[in-house]
Amino acid sequence: SYPADYVGRFAPTPSGSLHLGSLVAALASYLDAKSAQGHWLLRIEDLDKPREVPGATTSILTTLEHYGFEWDGPVIYQSQRLKAYQEAAEYLQQQGLAYFCRCSRKQLEAYPGPYPGFCRDRQYPPQQAALRLRVPEQSFSVQDRVQGAFCQHLGREVGDFIIQRRDQVFAYQLAVVVDDAWQGITQIVRGADLLDSTPRQLYLQQQLKLPQPQYLHVPLLMQADGHKLSKSHQAPPIEPQAAAQLLVTALSLLGQDPPKALEQESPHRILAWGIQHWASHQIPATPQLLFNPLSADT
Ligand code: GLU
Repeated sequence: SYPADYVGRFAPTPSGSLHLGSLVAALASYLDAKSAQGHWLLRIEDLDKPREVPGATTSILTTLEHYGFEWDGPVIYQSQRLKAYQEAAEYLQQQGLAYFCRCSRKQLEAYPGPYPGFCRDRQYPPQQAALRLRVPEQSFSVQDRVQGAFCQHLGREVGDFIIQRRDQVFAYQLAVVVDDAWQGITQIVRGADLLDSTPRQLYLQQQLKLPQPQYLHVPLLMQADGHKLSKSHQAPPIEPQAAAQLLVTALSLLGQDPPKALEQESPHRILAWGIQHWASHQIPATPQLLFNPLSADT
């Protein structure tokens, strides 16, 4: 096949089944890619084996299939990519940008806000230590396609952050940047909860000399009780038999004005409608309130 100008991806973490918020992110990235004749890749972010929920990967893959999504190429698993993250971490150490840190969570409890830098100049060896990346006293900004300009001062607002945990698990921030570049991702479409991570990722791309993709962060979903819809707040899994209805709901949440009758169609036809009518400028930036309680548990 031809190399596409547009390469997008969906990158779920197998810490549970897909919920409506993940469906909105998957749908937006799929439609944005396919309406541009692009490729859409699937990457399972299974780095944190200790916290992985058994069966979650299978559940995610079968749900995506039931909902009509077709990904290009093989599924990539981050658990198979540890060498690449190791190389990146070593490079950052060689550049003097990363250092080992022995601070425990408990010790840091007294210091909310950015890491106070206790281990910055201690030259600790790797044993029993996390690897932290030094951040510059500098702002990084992204021009998001939906959220507009987002700017963050890494020194003041984030601080030196962990790229490999004490238990050796590589951090999301490092792995996502390495893999997005390796897979040739040009457009990142994902949930707005990750907007706040984007400046760290821009900094990592700069230090690792990787290209910078474009970003589009879709709005978060808020439950009627004011909680953001997330796994930690018991968002119900999306069920295969609700595919048509939930795809149409997700299109509405993305500001795409689907006709009500679309709910009678198959997932494939709904996705085809979405590709044909995709208007990314109609995506709302602000959190979307869910009026109907999600009915999976009724
Ligand atoms: N794995 C992350 C999640 O499920 C998403 C990563 C990304 O899209 O950058 O929240």
